[in-house]
Amino acid sequence: MPGKLKARLAKLEQQLSERVMRQELRKCNCPGITILLPNDVEHLEQFEAQVSLTCPVHGLRWPERLLVVNFVHMNKTLTEESVRLNQAVDVYHSRRLE
Ligand SMILES: [Zn+2]
Repeated sequence: MPGKLKARLAKLEQQLSERVMRQELRKCNCPGITILLPNDVEHLEQFEAQVSLTCPVHGLRWPERLLVVNFVHMNKTLTEESVRLNQAVDVYHSRRLE
């Protein structure tokens, strides 16, 4: 195959795979930027419900960005609610790495 044609074919193949990838990503239903606060049990439950669903692209759903806010006591130790929240997030992280 002449070099020019080969290069053109390679370029077309790349364009096609990029298009397929974009179409695939459009099916993503992962949550967007998510902020979790330790005093907000309802919010954590919503988060748990959201990530327990699956995404057609990524499998396990995971927020685009996850920000976990920690509350601390005067002596700088985490509040009980913060510890619980961090444990819940750790469970999701480890599940995701499996
Ligand atoms: Zn996704």
